[in-house]
Amino acid sequence: MSSVPENMKALRLNKFKENYKLERIPIPKPQGNEVLVRIAAASFCHTDYQVYEGAYHTELPHTGSHEPVGTIAALGPDASKKWKVGDRVGVYLFREPCGSCADCKWYAAEHEGKLNARYCKNKTMGGILKADGGFAEYMISFDDAIMRIPDGLPFEQAAPLMCAGCTMWTAILQAKAKKGSTMAIPRQRFQHGHHSK
Ligand SMILES: [Zn+2]
Ligand SMILES: [Zn+2]
Repeated sequence: MSSVPENMKALRLNKFKENYKLERIPIPKPQGNEVLVRIAAASFCHTDYQVYEGAYHTELPHTGSHEPVGTIAALGPDASKKWKVGDRVGVYLFREPCGSCADCKWYAAEHEGKLNARYCKNKTMGGILKADGGFAEYMISFDDAIMRIPDGLPFEQAAPLMCAGCTMWTAILQAKAKKGSTMAIPRQRFQHGHHSK
């Protein structure tokens, strides 16, 4: 087991539209099936800017970044045995579907009782809503919301794949593109104050 210190540095949003503050806060201990990830890289997404503006009504103080990657530092007592300390992982942002909202019920009815946090009205989103993200030395996730990062992929390249990369990948899958085929990617210019929601 790698030893985990008591405290860590974290960039905290204390008030909407005010700069992050570099603070020292306690490192949470992983409970149940939670996983503590030691952050190696965490990227800044347009959504982080919306969190900063207050668009998600995030509870403050809050640590942003939903595009974190790193290594597992500690595991909760009930975490899946497929993970071990030192594994290179990325942290997925959508977590903990409630199972009882209309959208969860709709998804379950369509998918043999399964739930998908992306469609839940009461979901947790690490780094956006109800849970701290990766602008810190460590963050908590859980065993079902992390994915392996291949050894050959540098952390700083893996980080943006956790959100923007997933979005692109889904589009490529849905287009059923064959290996070697040409793809056109329209690029929309981002304007401050305009939210594409
Ligand atoms: Zn729900
Ligand atoms: Zn994002």
